[in-house]
Amino acid sequence: MLLREQVSLGPYTTFGIGGPASWFVEATDEASVVEAVEFARARSLPLFVLGGGSNLLVADEGFPGVVVHIAMKGVEQDGAVFRAAAGENWDGFVSRAVERGYGGIECLAGIPGTVGGTPVQNVGAYGQEVSGTITAVRVLDLKHLRSSELPAAVCGFAYRRSIFNSTRQGQFIVTQVSFRLRKDAFPAISYGDLQRHFAGRAERPSLEETAAAVREIRHSKGMLLVEGEPDCRSAGSFFKNPVVAEAVYDAIASKAKGSVPRYAAMTRGFVKIPAAWLVEQAGFAKGFVLGAAGISSRHALALINRGGAKAADIVALRDRIVAAVEARFGIRLDPEPVWVGGGREASGAAAAGHL
Ligand SMILES: Cc1cc2nc3c(=O)[nH]c(=O)nc-3n(C[C@H](O)[C@H](O)[C@H](O)COP(=O)(O)OP(=O)(O)OC[C@H]3O[C@@H](n4cnc5c(N)ncnc54)[C@H](O)[C@@H]3O)c2cc1C
Repeated sequence: MLLREQVSLGPYTTFGIGGPASWFVEATDEASVVEAVEFARARSLPLFVLGGGSNLLVADEGFPGVVVHIAMKGVEQDGAVFRAAAGENWDGFVSRAVERGYGGIECLAGIPGTVGGTPVQNVGAYGQEVSGTITAVRVLDLKHLRSSELPAAVCGFAYRRSIFNSTRQGQFIVTQVSFRLRKDAFPAISYGDLQRHFAGRAERPSLEETAAAVREIRHSKGMLLVEGEPDCRSAGSFFKNPVVAEAVYDAIASKAKGSVPRYAAMTRGFVKIPAAWLVEQAGFAKGFVLGAAGISSRHALALINRGGAKAADIVALRDRIVAAVEARFGIRLDPEPVWVGGGREASGAAAAGHL
């Protein structure tokens, strides 16, 4: 086990924000994950599992415990079943699958982070979610310090949700994810942005063209990490799209000037309202600035570190937006990134929770 003390967490996150971890373990295999857990337990320290750091906001005080950085690598293929180690880069995995002619995750191209991070919030974009292809998740169960394979059916996948970020939060460390992909599948291009991208084209795009289109669309919205672009210091979408009853939607629509956008929700009688629309209508335009924090110039849903921002700056902007949207629409926005560390935002003994 490679153990280091007082490691600054900012460089391990896409926000580039955060104080040090008291202890930091680079786990390149399951045995070092177990060792890290035992090390933390022997000292009664909280434990935090770090993937690619693309869905986190780390406290300025840092994390007063052991951070395990998941760095296991390797992808095995058995026909259409791909077993990818949790530390594999997600976008790299998508590229490899698509190049080999396997579909089912092509619309999830360009999402930063690790393979192991994807089941946690059931990563989704442009009409696909990882739950559509995941067959099983291999985990280390921290209750019994034992590895096992959880079939997808028990993972509780829903919109931005699974047992890993809700009912069983903190119980499992994901070490490998199995996907059943589809050989020579037709790419999924039903999402509006993709339909517009390919409008007027006679032949169906290939899987690779679809993944490339997704990356291009993401780039235009500042949702692709590109070195040196200021809009990239973010955790992606900062708020989940609220799912509201049709009656709530109707009430908002009746008062709004112009039409209120909506998407289908998984539950009958409910609809999703784009959080970006609510944020903009509440007075926060793209490019909004509050000290060193701001809103991306290309997407109203991405809060950004404009350079030298502290976690406190992002939290201040978040609070202003949440209060304004609630005052205007009666909807309380739910942040997507996970809060890591001490201070007033921490939830629970593990000092990591939802923002
Ligand atoms: C520019 C940008 C665009 C994005 N676009 C999207 C998008 O379109 N759709 C979407 O769903 N998300 C999106 N995200 C959010 C983020 O990329 C995903 O949620 C990603 O899957 C997080 O993975 P990660 O490895 O970076 O996890 P981290 O950020 O390191 O961790 C996130 C949470 O998962 C837990 N975790 C991570 N790895 C493991 C593991 N192996 N075992 C157990 N728990 C673990 C952590 O403890 C933490 O609670 C975007 C982020 C950015 C910066």
